Amino acid sequence: MFDKILVANRGEIALRVIRAAREMGIRTVAVHSTADADAMHVRMADESVCIGPPPGSESYLSIPSIIAACEVTGAQAIHPGYGFLSENANFVQIVEDHDLTFIGPTAEHIRVMGDKITAKDTMKALGVPCVPGSEGGVADLAAAKALGDEMGYPVIVKATAGGGGRGMKVAQTAADMENAFMTARSEAKAAFGNDEVYIEKYLTTPRHIEIQVFGDGKGGAVHLGERDCSLQRRHQKVFEEAPGPCITEEERARIGQICADAVAKIDYAGAGTIEFLYEKGEFYFIEMNTRLQVEHPVTEAIFGVDLVQEQIRVAEGLPMSFTQEDLKINGHAIEVRINAEKLPTFSPRPGKITQFHAPGGLGVRMDSALYDGYKIPPYYDSLIGKLIVHAQDRATALARLNRALGELIVDGVDTTVPLFHALLQEPDIHSGDYNIHWLEHWLETNLQDG
Ligand code: ADP
Repeated sequence: MFDKILVANRGEIALRVIRAAREMGIRTVAVHSTADADAMHVRMADESVCIGPPPGSESYLSIPSIIAACEVTGAQAIHPGYGFLSENANFVQIVEDHDLTFIGPTAEHIRVMGDKITAKDTMKALGVPCVPGSEGGVADLAAAKALGDEMGYPVIVKATAGGGGRGMKVAQTAADMENAFMTARSEAKAAFGNDEVYIEKYLTTPRHIEIQVFGDGKGGAVHLGERDCSLQRRHQKVFEEAPGPCITEEERARIGQICADAVAKIDYAGAGTIEFLYEKGEFYFIEMNTRLQVEHPVTEAIFGVDLVQEQIRVAEGLPMSFTQEDLKINGHAIEVRINAEKLPTFSPRPGKITQFHAPGGLGVRMDSALYDGYKIPPYYDSLIGKLIVHAQDRATALARLNRALGELIVDGVDTTVPLFHALLQEPDIHSGDYNIHWLEHWLETNLQDG
């Protein structure tokens, strides 16, 4: 059993991990940059270590500083949260080489899933349905054009090293292919230092459905249903829910079992998310995230589990605390991401929080590291909180979200809260009738002038 773990992250997710550890009687070490000396995660942890100057590259991404912080404090394990070093296979290898435990999957699993071509090949071999496309990488423009003609347009050119929506270009027709191929390649080279690209059929009206999986690292695995994260802006999720409004019990059981079997076969350890595009009753794998997701609380709400505590248990070598049969869905949960951003451009708005009041009451959870007088530093992600509501059904959850948003006070900076007030007026949000392009279209027509 761990006595002490180090949390290699900041903001709401660092707090999330600290809370989970404390309930298990495990002491926590926060790390922070000089810009975060007054941050909530530093205040809430049992100990803290300053690991460098404000830029993430010199602090939260500094592997030597984080390893040194473990050695100085005697922390036995590291929880990476999401972002930063959470999907860095090299980091995991170094952690293991220092006889520390990484709370997450192995370096090898992270490496395989971090390269999209390898990930897709692996998933295909494990029986997971994938988007039709090229077999591996596409070497040159001539090959890309030939493939486009064979598959039929539209197609999407994607970087194998891609992430965060970068290195992806759609070719609507054959005439677009040269531009799409060249742009995707040069973007990929610039952003990831790897210009390998592959091609997929472009699905025009899909929903984003992702399956939460959990493995014990010894061939045992379960699934915890799906989350629908179709409401996206620039491929970034803004509103997530579970269960998916359009997924039937049969579909859930079928795709869930395929995913659980796939990760069981590779002895996957800990939490993972297998992302799909879903169109006309079919699931198409796009990528696997080998970490905790931002939107994990909606799954926790409907299954009544603590995914972070489960990650810690499995990292300690203990069996999972639930079986597939134990996992029963109860009600509906919705999360909205509250960012310090100004509409309609969504430009980041760091600054001082003059007043903060979190909503409460039945079925309301606010995961945030804000407090009165907190100064949001300009160096990091603009996510400042997640509001999660849980109720017996979707309609009640939407009503509860509306009520909770009304109670929330975040003064001093602009936030994305007005976006959610406006979305809750939309019939499509209430009917659940939208795909991954809905929000972009809605923003174009509704938020032009702010
Ligand atoms: P990233 O790792 O950069 O987030 P993903 O492969 O997860 O890249 O894709 C991000 C988003 O791009 C998806 O959620 C979807 O909106 C869009 N996308 C990716 N592949 C396709 C495809 N074949 N057809 C349609 N949209 C796609």
